[in-house]
Amino acid sequence: MALYAELHRHLGGSVVPRILWGYFQRYQLSKAQDFPEYSEFEEYYTRERSSLDEYLELHTLVESVQTPQALPYFIYRLIRGAYIFENLAYLELRYTPYYRTDEALSPSERISQMQMIVEIVGQSSHVKEYPIVTSQILCIHSRLPYEVNKAIVDLASQMREYVCAIDIAGGDAHIAERLDEFIGLYRYARSLGLKTTGHLFETTNGCYPELLPYLMRIGHGIQIPLKYPELLKEVAQLNQCLEVCPTTYLKTGTLKNISDLKTVFDRCFDAGVDIAICTDNAGLHNVRLPFEYENLLTHNVIDFQQLEACQDAAFRHAFAWPYGKRPASMLTGLLQKPQDEKQLLPF
Ligand SMILES: [Zn+2]
Repeated sequence: MALYAELHRHLGGSVVPRILWGYFQRYQLSKAQDFPEYSEFEEYYTRERSSLDEYLELHTLVESVQTPQALPYFIYRLIRGAYIFENLAYLELRYTPYYRTDEALSPSERISQMQMIVEIVGQSSHVKEYPIVTSQILCIHSRLPYEVNKAIVDLASQMREYVCAIDIAGGDAHIAERLDEFIGLYRYARSLGLKTTGHLFETTNGCYPELLPYLMRIGHGIQIPLKYPELLKEVAQLNQCLEVCPTTYLKTGTLKNISDLKTVFDRCFDAGVDIAICTDNAGLHNVRLPFEYENLLTHNVIDFQQLEACQDAAFRHAFAWPYGKRPASMLTGLLQKPQDEKQLLPF
């Protein structure tokens, strides 16, 4: 049985439209009035945007309702959906904890409150009836001040029970003006022994080769095979895995067609660079992980053998998967029909 690993999913973008609309109907009637019909809300929430920045604006809508009180509500439904509909055995959930704190507090009080947020997310992710191995990736943010980002790295280091790595989010074009500062933060994270990924080389505005040596995985990274294939050799040598999220590039206008990804996969396979296929924002897209796989197959971007290689890579590059192998290899023996049933009969 194929159970999957999801390495790139945002807490904010993980809420499927039906769940968010239901939440508004139950608890936030002011927002519910804007969308009395579910179909209108789904249309608004999942439509394509013209740029990455416009697309990221939608996260703020979800962040505003994911308060400490409401987080367990959303995370329970996220884990339930991931278990029932996506066959996930492993999930890394990423977010910027500062944006889940109380906006009415002072910056230093908000920094202090981040620890509570990580605990809430960690505890809510353990749902007895839907067991999935989960861990958190804390995102520093290209628009947050240095003090907050440094506190996020420190928090990740202090809460390893719940946190496996750090990431940089917030739109890759905004990294440029403070590139040295972000390199310093990544260097600091590595010195603490933290694992690292980062939203880089997603769009043509977000290509910073200077940051690459500090990453263990690359969030998206599709512009490397598309525009800078000469970097693939080094990416392979560093054993960095690309987290490719097919639907995102269509929603942000980064790619015109899903078939544009064929070059990405072909060049990475040729260079020996691993790819994990991910959803990024499964809720916002209303596309769950098995459908990302299926879309790539039906558009002939990859074949079944390549899909399996990507699914293997996801478990291999998972930051907190506690077993050496993917679950399929542990379950297959249990599910196979015995070779010779007669041997099992007592007479
Ligand atoms: Zn992302």
